[in-house]
Amino acid sequence: MRATIFHAPGRVTVEDRPTPSAGPGEVRLRMAAASLCASDVRVYRGEKYALPGVIPGHEVSGVVDQVGAGVTGIAEGDRVVICPIVACNQCRYCLLGRRNRCVARETLGYDLDGGFADHMVVPAAIVSAGHVIAVPRALPLDLAAIVEPSACTLASLELCEVGAGTSMVIMGAGPMGLLHLILGRALGAGAIIVSEPVEERRAIARRWGADIVLDPGCEDVAGAVRDATDGLGADAVIVSVGLGEMVSPALSLVRPQGTVNLFAGFPRWAPAVPFDPNLVHYGEVILTGSQNATTDQYRRTVAMLGGVPHIDEVVTNRYGIERAPEAYESRLALAGLKSLVQFPGVDPLFPTDSAGAA
Ligand SMILES: [Zn+2]
Ligand SMILES: [Zn+2]
Repeated sequence: MRATIFHAPGRVTVEDRPTPSAGPGEVRLRMAAASLCASDVRVYRGEKYALPGVIPGHEVSGVVDQVGAGVTGIAEGDRVVICPIVACNQCRYCLLGRRNRCVARETLGYDLDGGFADHMVVPAAIVSAGHVIAVPRALPLDLAAIVEPSACTLASLELCEVGAGTSMVIMGAGPMGLLHLILGRALGAGAIIVSEPVEERRAIARRWGADIVLDPGCEDVAGAVRDATDGLGADAVIVSVGLGEMVSPALSLVRPQGTVNLFAGFPRWAPAVPFDPNLVHYGEVILTGSQNATTDQYRRTVAMLGGVPHIDEVVTNRYGIERAPEAYESRLALAGLKSLVQFPGVDPLFPTDSAGAA
């Protein structure tokens, strides 16, 4: 099979690898699509660790083409996505249903082979944990590849208790910030204020339903947030850009007892940043982070995603497997939104959709 291999920061190649087989408890997928995550780009930049020689790709969709001995409830031909976390199922977090916090967690695409290849074997620990999730007919598999980032977004929104009428500030309108916009809207959020320095992205945020869109370089974000929230500040502030210096402004935009979620990851070498602890103390502000999502959040994301307006516009760059390294370069250049490696003709329900690979 053709597989994308991560060798070292800045070095990703496409090579022939033996096609793996599904062992006991495992299933093999014929990949339909795999989208590139900001964290894949952070690995490529050397900001985050991945095992040299690993096949990247944790935002994946495919069709089951081999079922290992002992697997029940999954059949050849099933259209699926996976939650890419291999968890122990025994630690305190796993027992609470928070496998994304498992103390022994490994993740496909970083520690174990992921989906930037013709085939991927899903480890028994993922299969037995119920992390292989059927995709409804309404959702084409190329879009199903973005279930993973969408589930991470849902986890972030639910952590911030975004629901009917909640006011939100989104700092950074990259693909993840924009997912917060459209999923937040779908959950019934009230005023959504987006702060983003790149005009092209501000234009998308406006088109996709943000109420107020501002350039933080030359516009008064704090004033606009106060005006839109009766002077209180926003219920929730999402920091969707990996810049530590955003923490302090984020704390000045949230209302007392509101939540600031540091959704983006920060480079390993990012310097410590100062902020006024009294904003947290007197404001009783919850300053938190979020990473990945629970299995339950994956399931609910799969169920809702096909009906979310603009979700089909989130994927802007499509590449065949041979051009996977270009997908990384497109993200480095910030060209478009999500980049997808896709495999023509694999989705049995939408074969022509997936045939549009660049
Ligand atoms: Zn991801
Ligand atoms: Zn665990």
